[in-house]
Amino acid sequence: MNPIGLATWLRRRAERDGDRSALTFAGETLSFAALQREIESFADVLYGCEIRSGDRVAYVGFNHSRFLVALFATARLGAIFVPLNFRFTGSELAQNIQDSDARLLIADDAHTGPVDEVRTDLGVRRYLRTGESTDGWEGTDDLRGRRHPHIEEVVVDVDSPALILYTSGTTGRPKGAILTHRNLWTSNVNWMLAVNYNAEHVALTSAPLFHSGGMCVMTLPTLMAGGHVVVHEQFDAGILLDDIERYRVTSLFMVPAMMLFVSQHERFATADLSSVRIIVAGAAPVPEPMLRLYGTRGIPVSQCWGLTEAATGATFLGTDRALDKLGSCGTAGMLNEVRLIDADGNVLTTPGVHGELCVRGDTVTPGYWNMPEATAAALGPDGWFRTGDVAYRDEEGFYYIADRLKDMIISGGENVYPAEVESVLYGHPSIAEVAVIGAPDDRWGERVVAVAVLAPGVRLELEELREFAGAELARYKLPLELRVVDVLPRNTTGKVLKHELRAMSGAGH
Ligand code: AMP
Repeated sequence: MNPIGLATWLRRRAERDGDRSALTFAGETLSFAALQREIESFADVLYGCEIRSGDRVAYVGFNHSRFLVALFATARLGAIFVPLNFRFTGSELAQNIQDSDARLLIADDAHTGPVDEVRTDLGVRRYLRTGESTDGWEGTDDLRGRRHPHIEEVVVDVDSPALILYTSGTTGRPKGAILTHRNLWTSNVNWMLAVNYNAEHVALTSAPLFHSGGMCVMTLPTLMAGGHVVVHEQFDAGILLDDIERYRVTSLFMVPAMMLFVSQHERFATADLSSVRIIVAGAAPVPEPMLRLYGTRGIPVSQCWGLTEAATGATFLGTDRALDKLGSCGTAGMLNEVRLIDADGNVLTTPGVHGELCVRGDTVTPGYWNMPEATAAALGPDGWFRTGDVAYRDEEGFYYIADRLKDMIISGGENVYPAEVESVLYGHPSIAEVAVIGAPDDRWGERVVAVAVLAPGVRLELEELREFAGAELARYKLPLELRVVDVLPRNTTGKVLKHELRAMSGAGH
């Protein structure tokens, strides 16, 4: 057994480079040694809360240095960290908490409210709130300072789960993708090799840490490489430009929508961006004008394709090829393979032929939490994971994402699963039938569109529908457009023909 789990490599980094800056949040910087002390102290708190190897620790909160402290402290005990989407409503949070059977739930001040709404149903053993205790929440500050010598004995198997990250499936039922310590290790090294992270890197993370993009693309590999991560509570283009100057940031991970907001900010043209060596972009291709615009500010963009189930990056396009391989997401990472298959599972090698993109390697999840059927449907016995993305290769072996088999919309970097939104919209009394699709959107990449057949004699406005659905769904999942039609196109088995609906709206994909 290899016992070098996530917490061990961070401790080793602290032993070697204790004085170096590791993490900055809201103007406060922790050195690697200080970060390690925080992790040990928090591991004590968790141990005192009876967290042991294999237990699930759920966390809901904005980005913060203590998010990462909680993650490493959980890993330190061999327990499993389950970060939740802070945009979720109480019922969405409850689903993830119950599915993972979390023993402990940690929330920041802003998120105890949504949890309290659903608390009676959850079955969580203890509730911790960052700070001091209040209203039925134990405070992390009140529990600190009790040493638990048994912690020294915890040995973590590198093939045991470190994280469960929830991603919805095509059925709309959220699935918890397990990532082991080995998956994260390998992903970190894959990124370090693809992007040349090193101890001189200053990364800025403003994408949400609960998502694999915010966590795995840059934050963890930068720490592993001994670099410095500046964490923002949430994305804000102005603060991002300020902090690039203040901390001489060298690297950022952004989705195209974030790049657009930054480029539209009044300070984009004048801010001192000379420290920035790379922007890593994912979730959708970066449009050519945007590549050129960042180029005028001297900033190279590296594009990648990946997914939560492969601990993010699986193909990488170097900054040197950005303009001559427009639209491409690059070639396989150094530590993983990719390939295309047809509907019968035959491997496709001819350039230009579309197929489902599959990924294999030590970055790939061992499966979904407690969902053997969903796992078997996606992950073959040969280790190839079917991603549900349709792609083709060119003569040089560069991949291009063309379509999605999975019914998913990506709006501003957030995944929206139509089936989940549809099931909520069906609850509105004015709706007789509804289908949710994605339509191209200059700002968000795609926007959520509800195409509805209304009950006889009623009218329905978008705002009313949004308000209704907003009680159960996070804001980013709410339709930005409502189209009323007489009938939904269906195939002979009654399945709504979403491609046809998208074509009717010129929406493509
Ligand atoms: P997630 O698991 O939330 O990271 O979402 C992963 C999905 O995002 C992939 O399966 C793709 O559908 C999409 N995606 C990621 N990167 C790209 C890219 N460079 N181009 C197009 N789609 C992408």
